[in-house]
Amino acid sequence: MADAAVGIGSINGIKIELHWTFILLLIFVSFLGLYDALLIVVLFLFVLLHELAHSFTSKRLGVKVKRIVLYPFGGGSMIDNEALSAKKELMISLAGPLASIGLGILTLIISLIIPKGSISTDFYLLFELNMLLGIFNLLPWIPLDGGRALRAYLQRKMGFLEATEKAVKLGRIITVAYLAISTAYIILSESSIADIELLIIFNFAFTLLIYGGAESELLSAKIKEQMHNINVSYAMTRRFNIIPPSVKIERLRKMFYKKNIYNHIIITKKNGQYAMLSNRMLRSIILKGNELGTSIAQASVKLATISSDRSLFYTLQDMESEGIDTMCVVKKGRLVGILQRQHAEFAATMYMRHSKKDIKA
Ligand SMILES: [Zn+2]
Repeated sequence: MADAAVGIGSINGIKIELHWTFILLLIFVSFLGLYDALLIVVLFLFVLLHELAHSFTSKRLGVKVKRIVLYPFGGGSMIDNEALSAKKELMISLAGPLASIGLGILTLIISLIIPKGSISTDFYLLFELNMLLGIFNLLPWIPLDGGRALRAYLQRKMGFLEATEKAVKLGRIITVAYLAISTAYIILSESSIADIELLIIFNFAFTLLIYGGAESELLSAKIKEQMHNINVSYAMTRRFNIIPPSVKIERLRKMFYKKNIYNHIIITKKNGQYAMLSNRMLRSIILKGNELGTSIAQASVKLATISSDRSLFYTLQDMESEGIDTMCVVKKGRLVGILQRQHAEFAATMYMRHSKKDIKA
């Protein structure tokens, strides 16, 4: 899985995860020697501080932070986009680079006041790393911080989609310029041919990652624009049956047989919360045959609920980022439908195909 990341802990309620590419890099660098490995660990500490600056600013502005994922050469904070206004996005984007620049100045001061030696040289290197982290991220290159800040700034005069389109267009120019300049720089450096090859490949992959990020920002902005007036109730299914929790699987099987309701989702209530018995689970119990005396309450799993008037776009985003497949849709506290991610994504696609604007990226 491309998104696979390992949780390493949490700070102030924000989950911190290491992306698998970072774990790979750590293993790779540990072969180079202790000093390089330590340097990478320290660099990551500063990347983490940069991300925490984004997260704490978000929290202060009332925007929920879901988690922070650390990649080999930067980080990403997953925040609640729905509560994000342009002004808040501007402040949150700038907080990270400003923190890095502040840390850079601090490490520079330390390197200047301590006696000259290997430690002061190390602090000077940390100064350079932090400044690089701060200034590079300030480039108006969406999805980097500077690009997000630019989009937020543009939104004062235009809509979200138009601002994203402008920021992505500028980003494409920067991509070409960056690739040309950095490749020339690598070739002109006095490195060995093998190192040059490796650096060029790495740099190209890195540029591609940013380019891909920008294009998916644009696609997401287009989808958001198209889906802005449909909510959860549009894509939910009403084919469900509420069965009392004490009913045994054996009886359920007979009910199914008589009423021919195989295509209905089985919902029950478990400790005051809606729970579902999936077809797969039911089938497995019936095939095994030895657990037919189990009650629905025992075999079912609890479901999260969502309000029927919530935006479908943001709900699908949440379901994807949290790995949720099914939700109960409620209206005024009453169960009105079931939202299944695959089905809802299909419904959303069909809706967009029918609307006039083209959503191709
Ligand atoms: Zn940042």
